[in-house]
Amino acid sequence: MTTTTPMPLASAFIDVDLDALAANYQHFCDAAPGCNVAAVVKANAYGLGLGPCARTLAEAGCTVFFVAQLEEGQALRALLPGVTIFVLNGPIAGTEDVFLAERLIPVLNSPDQVHAWSAAAAGKAQRVPTALHLDTGMNRLGLSAAEVTALAANPQLLSPFDVKLIMSHLACAEDDGNPLNRQQLQEFDRLRQLLPPAPASLANAAGIFLGPHYHYDLVRPGIGLYGANPISPKPSPVKPVVSLRARVLQIREAEAGNHVGYGATHTVKTPARLAVVAAGYADGILRSLSNKGAAWAAGRRVPVVGRVSMDLITLDVTDIPPLDIKPGELVELIGPNLPIEEVADAAGTIAYEVLTGLGHRCVRLYTCAGKTSVGDSL
Ligand SMILES: *Cc1c(COP(=O)(O)O)cnc(C)c1O
Repeated sequence: MTTTTPMPLASAFIDVDLDALAANYQHFCDAAPGCNVAAVVKANAYGLGLGPCARTLAEAGCTVFFVAQLEEGQALRALLPGVTIFVLNGPIAGTEDVFLAERLIPVLNSPDQVHAWSAAAAGKAQRVPTALHLDTGMNRLGLSAAEVTALAANPQLLSPFDVKLIMSHLACAEDDGNPLNRQQLQEFDRLRQLLPPAPASLANAAGIFLGPHYHYDLVRPGIGLYGANPISPKPSPVKPVVSLRARVLQIREAEAGNHVGYGATHTVKTPARLAVVAAGYADGILRSLSNKGAAWAAGRRVPVVGRVSMDLITLDVTDIPPLDIKPGELVELIGPNLPIEEVADAAGTIAYEVLTGLGHRCVRLYTCAGKTSVGDSL
């Protein structure tokens, strides 16, 4: 790949490989043949930037998108006037008219939402596109079995709707041995049969790998598009999309007995060389990586020592020959040598939280068709 990377003189960079994003979308299309593959782009496309990610996915052939919130739907509508947009949280009471005006399809999650949306849709010239969410065992959002039964007995509530999707969500999709997956699938089939027929959707990214029974008409991958392994610890079916790099600010020598960072939580045992790096928890380096995280510098893995602070971390680079690491150079904190799942594990969390927590002041570099451009840094 030839890159013409413009390298702004910034402290930290998030590189987003849009070609890998498009390849991952195609991978899900191949994994769910004959199925409509939507893209979940909530939370600013999992922290990577709604605009560049949604445009790339649309170019890769995606026509159906999911966001969580109305505001996200409005932002996406402004970018992509022609696509189908589902809003997972459904309307907060009073926002129904905005959904209608922006052609956003609400996912109705409760009887209150069904009633309010039915009232807003009643009397329209055409039936109004709608999605229904059935709870099949997660007890998060969605109509309970009793609520589905009540709805089925009250068909005029549904009469203003063009039901585009009946969906549910898996609680344990990444654990293919978990019996809850099959129970949820069976409950989904049972509840769907109480309602008029409509296209169905159950699987998130991990759910797609549970097999074709879980695919129905439409699948809803999120995390895997953005390069995190949806079926970790099994080998990743997707390509990495993100890396995070930050500059070395200074190299310092420390003597045995010296402490490092806030709280003096690391004590140097033998004379050491330390690299102070310009990224901290404000940039998405979780504070729980204090004394646990790692970086990749000069072809080696080196440990984070001491606490992660807001703008800085400290690495022990004693094992790197002095001429191989200098102020101004970039070290990798997430990337090909430090997969995001590994970083998440070390921090005691999941890749989703690492991605959505990436800092806003890092300069974002987007690579598309082998060419890199600078995105918004703020
Ligand atoms: C976030 C979300 C998804 C996408 O999940 P991933 O695990 O990121 O693939 C799909 N469906 C619903 C209802 C969601 O909330």
